[in-house]
Amino acid sequence: MDNCLFCKIAAKQVPASVVYEDDELLAFKDINPAAPVHLLVIPKKHIATLTEAQPEDTVLLGKMLALAPKLAEEHGVSVVYGNDGSPTRGYKTLVNSGPDGGQVIYHLHMHIYGGPRPWRGMH
Ligand code: 5GP
Ligand code: ZN
Repeated sequence: MDNCLFCKIAAKQVPASVVYEDDELLAFKDINPAAPVHLLVIPKKHIATLTEAQPEDTVLLGKMLALAPKLAEEHGVSVVYGNDGSPTRGYKTLVNSGPDGGQVIYHLHMHIYGGPRPWRGMH
């Protein structure tokens, strides 16, 4: 897609702090982090919103979600269970769709937020 910022990041035409890459996905640090850890996971192919994802994209969507715990682990925000079995730390995964969903960049992306709170504008 011409003139899509995240397509340009995927094509390395716009720089980004990349933390993960494979044939289908790219993950990079959000330029304006709302939490101590704030990553974005995108498909390299252009899908404008979750609404445009097709049945054949289901595996790709699953790969995006499945990447979250791996990146959370690498960035020190994975869920860790204490001696009493209670969970600590953790992270949030979020996909905004459309204006009412808070989407600003129209190339599908999943946010991963983590780290000590408070986080900007979120509970
Ligand atoms: P949305 O509101 O569309 O779900 O989120 C878009 C996100 O992209 C925002 O958190 C914003 O900070 C981030 N963002 C916008 N432009 C850039 C950029 O050029 N580079 C990076 N790394 N993140 C960006
Ligand atoms: Zn795009």
